[in-house]
Amino acid sequence: MKKVLLSQAINPAGMKILEGKVEPVILTDSTVETTRKMVVDVEGIILRTNIKVTREIIESAPKLKIISRTGAGVDNVDVAAATEKGILVCDTPGVNSNSVAEQTLAILLGLAKQLKIMDKAVSEGNWKTRNTGKAVDIEGKTLGLIGIGRIGSLVADKCRQAFNMKVIAYDPYVKQIEGIELYPNIDQVFQEADFISIHVPYMKQTHHLVNAKMLNLMKPDAYLINTSRGPLVDEKALIEVLEKSSIAGAGLDVFEKEPPSTDNPLLRLNNVILTPHSSALSRECVMKVHITAAQAVVDFLSGKKPHSVFNEEGLRKKGYLQILA
Ligand code: NAD
Repeated sequence: MKKVLLSQAINPAGMKILEGKVEPVILTDSTVETTRKMVVDVEGIILRTNIKVTREIIESAPKLKIISRTGAGVDNVDVAAATEKGILVCDTPGVNSNSVAEQTLAILLGLAKQLKIMDKAVSEGNWKTRNTGKAVDIEGKTLGLIGIGRIGSLVADKCRQAFNMKVIAYDPYVKQIEGIELYPNIDQVFQEADFISIHVPYMKQTHHLVNAKMLNLMKPDAYLINTSRGPLVDEKALIEVLEKSSIAGAGLDVFEKEPPSTDNPLLRLNNVILTPHSSALSRECVMKVHITAAQAVVDFLSGKKPHSVFNEEGLRKKGYLQILA
């Protein structure tokens, strides 16, 4: 039976898809050395976020045919190296969008209503904290979205429907979306929004897309939310504006280094809400994503075209047409 490496265990519903079709092997630890040893005879990899499938790993896997990501975004795969070797890179776009959008709203509400501070105050017997007057309403406020793809649009819909927010956005690849005012430059969104939420993919070109200049354009009572990828935001610059309270706060599900080091100043700040890259880890979402990623591997290794091939265009350009038929 064809061997498939799982970078970490997957949901039992996903395991059921693999049962009797392929031989699943779970990576014993996330070091490069172990990964290189364990990919030698596998034809597929089901990839969570614990390892990077680099060129070095790909070159150690001569039988590898498919890398299937459990999630949207393939920034932990060297897609160019995979494409050169005719290896399919699949992900599960859209499957986790609603869960990430919900978490974005949860963070937005938590920041607006000062939930972290209020919860701690009640637990510590500081009832008077209720009078600090820092909580704000969301109704009628302006949401600024950077990236208005699957997740960004869902966040926009939910915020408009639930809170009657005005939605403005910057996305150079989108021409028009009903109910959203698209701005031709990112600075204007940073200047005008009360809540800014980032929903763009991480690539070389989007590294530190949110930098000190942009953070300094924000209104003093505005909040930044990042549930996309850590390195989209210059974390050092963000810490600076948070420490001097030149913005109201930030909500982060993702960090430049994950998990953040114990001496990361973000961990000591009160004006932040931090979650451990958990936006897509709701029970329902994990199950859906793992089923989809497992199905892609089973489909491809049994001769069918899988759900979503991220590098389809690249493979076609390299002449690997027969594997996509
Ligand atoms: P998507 O591809 O549907 O949308 C991304 C949007 O970003 C597109 O509309 C694109 O035009 C736009 N964009 C690209 N470059 C841009 C730039 N420089 N400036 C502004 N806009 C730009 O992706 P999606 O499904 O909405 O996911 C967005 C990101 O969310 C993913 O790439 C992933 O990094 C992240 N994500 C995080 C989690 C999590 O667990 N926290 C889970 C899923 C996805």
